Amino acid sequence: MRLVILVKDMSPLSAPVTITGKTKVFGIIGDPIEHSLSPPMQNAALHQLGIDGVYVPFQVDGAQLPVAMAGLGAIGLQGFNVTLPHKQAVMPHLVSLTDSAQAIGAVNTVWRTEQGWAGTNTDVLGFIAPLKAQAVDWPTGRVVVLGYGGAARAVVAGCHQLGCQDIWVVGRSAQKLAQFAERWQVSALPVTIQTKPWEALGSLLAETTLLVNTTPLGMFPRVADSPVSGADLALLPPGAIAYDLIYTPRPTHFLKLAAACGLKTLDGFEMLVQQGAAALEIWTQQSPPIAIMGQALAAHLGANVSG
Ligand code: NAP
Repeated sequence: MRLVILVKDMSPLSAPVTITGKTKVFGIIGDPIEHSLSPPMQNAALHQLGIDGVYVPFQVDGAQLPVAMAGLGAIGLQGFNVTLPHKQAVMPHLVSLTDSAQAIGAVNTVWRTEQGWAGTNTDVLGFIAPLKAQAVDWPTGRVVVLGYGGAARAVVAGCHQLGCQDIWVVGRSAQKLAQFAERWQVSALPVTIQTKPWEALGSLLAETTLLVNTTPLGMFPRVADSPVSGADLALLPPGAIAYDLIYTPRPTHFLKLAAACGLKTLDGFEMLVQQGAAALEIWTQQSPPIAIMGQALAAHLGANVSG
């Protein structure tokens, strides 16, 4: 007998999934996990690729992480994503880590090897994918990163991968800025960054070709906030790119102000799709259906976020 289920929260792009004894299982662990955006996106992709597979969210309490890791291995999970609060805690349970995951200090994608679970951080690939499409000579441009949290680490690693050599990180705490910079000096990736306090941002902008917001300023529901004023954005040179990692709303106030200054703009939506696509490619060795993943994510976000 075959079981036919309609996976909850799958987009209208997806058909019912038929689960059999051969169905491969992928997933995501986190706590909480119920608002994860990955299941609709990954299930739409598996369906589009014709893969007999399903992607399932698993709520894993921090104290249960070691047991869960062993259990996921024992039941034959193919691979999984990792979200808060386990992105760091999962690392000691992996047999190998990519340089970027080591440098960022966080893992969001895990796959099976003969020796055990291996991990990487696909936020780096997700971040640079939309930038690679831009006709910019990255090594010579100045990058300014606003914020020094988890996403900023992926952004710095991504800029390093693009070949950028003039990377500045701007934040409101001098102590946290210093800690952020020190961390890169002993990292698996030899990135040199410079830092400035938030008040000095304006002095950097005239030569900035890429300005990245990694703070939550402007994220739903505080959609009227922007990390940078229109007057400061007007200091950027023509052709510069304003990149906001926020994906809700689209566009953010920051990007509206940037567009009004004639700057190129990128939001966090494609990064979100591309980090998922990079994970899917690791697990399946198949070229991910980016457009379908984007449509599924947009449909899900549209259904779950108002305003
Ligand atoms: P995080 O680790 O909490 O870091 C947030 C950073 O923003 C910190 O450096 C924080 O500095 C700074 N910040 C917060 N409020 C600020 C303010 N009012 N003024 C100046 N700086 C402020 O968060 P995260 O994980 O890096 O995520 C940051 C953003 O990126 C979120 O909006 C998230 O949705 C987005 N993101 C998007 C993707 C994607 O795929 N598109 C992926 C990851 C993250 P303090 O420590 O001084 O508060």
